[in-house]
Amino acid sequence: MKAAQIVTPKEPLQLKDLEIPKPNESEVVVKVKAVGVCHSDLHLWDGGYDAGSGSFMKATDRGVKFPVTPGHEVVGTITQIGSSVKEFKIGDEILVYPWIGCGVCPACKAENENLCDAPRSLGVFQNGGYAEYVLIPHFKYLIKITGIDLEGCISCMFWIDCIYCCKKSQRKLWRVSCYHWSWWARTDEYSNCKSNYKSYYHLRRSG
Ligand SMILES: [Zn+2]
Ligand SMILES: [Zn+2]
Repeated sequence: MKAAQIVTPKEPLQLKDLEIPKPNESEVVVKVKAVGVCHSDLHLWDGGYDAGSGSFMKATDRGVKFPVTPGHEVVGTITQIGSSVKEFKIGDEILVYPWIGCGVCPACKAENENLCDAPRSLGVFQNGGYAEYVLIPHFKYLIKITGIDLEGCISCMFWIDCIYCCKKSQRKLWRVSCYHWSWWARTDEYSNCKSNYKSYYHLRRSG
């Protein structure tokens, strides 16, 4: 399959020929129909984040390994499923929740994988959707979207992510939003994103 990878930050993406992944147990392979280009993808391509005050937070210092296939806002169709996959079948049209955690830390155990300190986020710490196929580590990260226009879905992917992840409370929604707008909690970007989100939230409530 074709995959567009960041091999070296700030260099053009390279079109690679990779093996189509094979799913084990709870894993799922998705044929990518559309994928968003998020600001975070550009930061990844930059090799990290401007953390303000002249400092630069390198992606490799946070565990990113190049080459990597970016793209965390993915919709597509399931083409292969592992032996223990439930609730989904080949042919289902799905959206992928990308903020995948380690699964064992306190944040993950509390279903806050987006806050994991050892994240495995799709398109950041593992190959994402700038490819013909993408391997999703567990079917629990999928949301069925059959009947919805797939390309259109990508443009509102960000909020769908949040809603899925944060069914339980607005507080969680706020936290995920901050995480999405900046990987890097505890930086200048984090406080900027907090105020951005607050403005948006007030707009929604008053509108
Ligand atoms: Zn994003
Ligand atoms: Zn974790």
